[in-house]
Amino acid sequence: MDIQSLTNDPSAVIEADRAHVWHHLTQHKPFEAIDPQIIVEGKGMRVWDITGKEHIDAVSGGVWTVNVGYGRTEIADAVRDQLVKMCYFAGAKGTIPGAEFAQRLVEKMPGLSRVYYANSGSEANEKAFKMVRQIAHKHYGGKKHKILYRDRDYHGTTIATLSAGGQQERNAQYGPFAPGFVEVPHCLEYRAQDGWAGETYGEKAAQAIEDVILREGPDTVGALCLEPITAGGGIIVPPKGYWERVQEICRKYDVLLHIDEVVCGLGRTGTWFGYQQFGIQPDIVTMAKGVASGYAAISCCVTTERVFDLFKDDTDRMGYFRDISTFGGCTAGPTAALENLKIIEKEDLGGNSAKMGERLKSNLQAIMDKHRWVGEVRGMGLFAGIELVADRDTKEPVHESKVMGIVADCMKQGVIIGAQNRSVPGFNNTLLFAPALIATADDIDEITTAVDNAITTVLG
Ligand code: PLP
Repeated sequence: MDIQSLTNDPSAVIEADRAHVWHHLTQHKPFEAIDPQIIVEGKGMRVWDITGKEHIDAVSGGVWTVNVGYGRTEIADAVRDQLVKMCYFAGAKGTIPGAEFAQRLVEKMPGLSRVYYANSGSEANEKAFKMVRQIAHKHYGGKKHKILYRDRDYHGTTIATLSAGGQQERNAQYGPFAPGFVEVPHCLEYRAQDGWAGETYGEKAAQAIEDVILREGPDTVGALCLEPITAGGGIIVPPKGYWERVQEICRKYDVLLHIDEVVCGLGRTGTWFGYQQFGIQPDIVTMAKGVASGYAAISCCVTTERVFDLFKDDTDRMGYFRDISTFGGCTAGPTAALENLKIIEKEDLGGNSAKMGERLKSNLQAIMDKHRWVGEVRGMGLFAGIELVADRDTKEPVHESKVMGIVADCMKQGVIIGAQNRSVPGFNNTLLFAPALIATADDIDEITTAVDNAITTVLG
């Protein structure tokens, strides 16, 4: 059957998908009895599936990616023109969109100046890890090679990024992992570690990082890799006092601060990057998802000039960053990213994220006032979560089957929301929201009304 006839025959598409596509993060057994959902069209905040059903998308393509919304012809047109003119050349050479996007991007990131192109968030993080390791070899006799990561954070799906993964259910069954990655405690005050809760929680959670550095030996620790706001681990906005101490600790022990902006980047929290909400100055920033809003595969590992200069040594044959990403040379990525950035700027989508984020949070707060099942509402900008508990006093999590029931009920109502999925053992109990940054007040109300209904239906 040719492509045209498949397109015209929904049941043939469903059968081809069922027979041949191995879906991400999916247990396929139920597909023996039910149809896989095929998404065929998107416009603005909305997508349509192959049955013709319309949905409002509260998670920007499922995983917080389509920041500027669906159907942006200006991105598609620019990519088409560029691909016809010059589609690809290996990244050892430059391209016009590569140079232009890098310049526009670092204008938004004072203190950072070098952009290394790759294709996915995992890959960008791997680049950063390799930089840290090579710096250790070149400048610290191989010693300063350890990379610290935080409990509940996620940095990708490859073996190295899972080695830096603080979500045990993502890691389970994929070991053994790479050595030299060391975990530090999470900073979710709602689930504060024994005796840490209270006014000084932020300082205590940061102090725990210093304790790990001292335990491991500061001369062995090269970098600290953190999400600015933990995403899939439960939407964790670090508490007051945390970031100041983290920055201080990194400077004190000459530890590079690597911020993973794969989710928070490009306006998601209301500023260009999540770290800019907290007044910190990272050494390395990685980003993917919203960089081109899913219109092309692109990720970036952005560094300071100081980090870049550590590789500028022509007396050492092996001393430059001997890394390549084949598709980091595809011009579709930076071309789409450039148009995406222009849209965010022109339409002030960061400003809209901040404004609509307030509405989202206050609507979720109203749901909390109404339903005893909501333990906490967290988030910043159009990036929010609600943690569901069976009992507010004991904070016992609602069972994940109920959480997934709420997601399914919203889907029935035509609203796509997210939830923690095989993330933190026993704590996959947070509903996730990250609508496109173009969301209006009506869109937000439509989303939260469905959530309110779904909680009543599933939990009573
Ligand atoms: N970092 C964070 C914070 C993420 O949430 C993700 C993916 O969800 C990644 C990295 C990995 O990105 P990718 O799936 O593009 O490899």
